[in-house]
Amino acid sequence: MNGPSYGDKAAQELADCLEQLRWIFGGYRAGGLLGWKYMPGKSRDEAEQAEASQTEEELSRISSELSGCTRCRLHSGRNKLVFGEGSAESGLVFVGEGPGFDEDRQGRPFVGRAGKLLDKMIFAIGLERRQVYICNVVKCRPPDNRAPLPDEAAECSPFLFRQIEALNPKVICALGMSAAQNLLGNSRPISQLRGKIQHWRGTPLICTYHPAYLLRSPSQKAAAWQDLKQVIKLLVT
Ligand code: URA
Repeated sequence: MNGPSYGDKAAQELADCLEQLRWIFGGYRAGGLLGWKYMPGKSRDEAEQAEASQTEEELSRISSELSGCTRCRLHSGRNKLVFGEGSAESGLVFVGEGPGFDEDRQGRPFVGRAGKLLDKMIFAIGLERRQVYICNVVKCRPPDNRAPLPDEAAECSPFLFRQIEALNPKVICALGMSAAQNLLGNSRPISQLRGKIQHWRGTPLICTYHPAYLLRSPSQKAAAWQDLKQVIKLLVT
């Protein structure tokens, strides 16, 4: 089979270059060139603080729109809605599937057994939980910890997408199949989605195994570690 032609390579280089320019002049965080959103007349610290408080405001707007939500059947078994939590200035957002028993009780994401493993995964990449943002595809617990059904995810994911847009992270890490498939809008297995950089609306997206799956299949931890190393690489470039 022939490799890519010179024309294909040139077109790809041009597309990469345009994407980079869009990031720079669009004011996004661009791989080390601009580490913050430039705001005329503001110092870097002031710009970062202003950006974080705009993000907090947008997150609390989204959260209040979800208060008392009855958009899908999951509300009927809910104790607490689990909006998500973490740093508004984080460059890294983890997206899980949906709250489990402990999360539903506490109203916080990833606080059960899988959450303890996620904490360790975050620590392994040199960060603390409070330095990243953690949320889920659906905000209410599916019964018996089943995966969210397509109509439930369809109702909830616009809110997830707004959360991610507000956070404007440098990297997104999808934990497990539900998160990966809902972000990418496809139904490919996680084994096919992990191991390469995907994109969500232009932001690099790393798909890896869900911590609950890793608890059941510890032999896959090595593969998950490879994914986390890719997350670090993207965060520091
Ligand atoms: N599993 C998830 O996908 N999300 C949580 O918040 C907890 C467990």
